[in-house]
Amino acid sequence: MELLTHAQQSSNLQEAIGEELADVDVIRAAGMVGQKFPLALAVWRFTELRDRSSMRAAFDGLAAMATRMRLTDPIHCASVVLQWMCDSTCSGCNGTRFDHIPGTPNLSDKPCVVCQGTGKRPTGWGDQARDLYERLLDEQRAAAAAIKRKLKGD
Ligand SMILES: [Zn+2]
Repeated sequence: MELLTHAQQSSNLQEAIGEELADVDVIRAAGMVGQKFPLALAVWRFTELRDRSSMRAAFDGLAAMATRMRLTDPIHCASVVLQWMCDSTCSGCNGTRFDHIPGTPNLSDKPCVVCQGTGKRPTGWGDQARDLYERLLDEQRAAAAAIKRKLKGD
């Protein structure tokens, strides 16, 4: 159940595709669906592939989405969401999701107390940034599904 929750909350487009694939194949397929999902792809390139040339498209696209959603501060929401996505690893467990056994390098079976076992840094967002993030994840999931279809040759 915890694993399922983690997958649902994932901000990682490659995780959402969920298969062992060479990056180059994913990037090629992503190029083919980019016209249909420009925001999902720009955010993926910027936050996961660390492509700084996609920052402007990711930020503008997300702010435009926030504006369409009539959020009170689209710029702020877009910026906190992107900042978190660029660095979302929990500092308590380094993303491993479990606490260390004190005095050893081994992980215990207790979920990390900082992130409650999600492996992600707490966001500290209000409802509006959360809504924006959820909407973005919907687009990323749709983009991931389209990429998977391309990779299967449909
Ligand atoms: Zn943690």
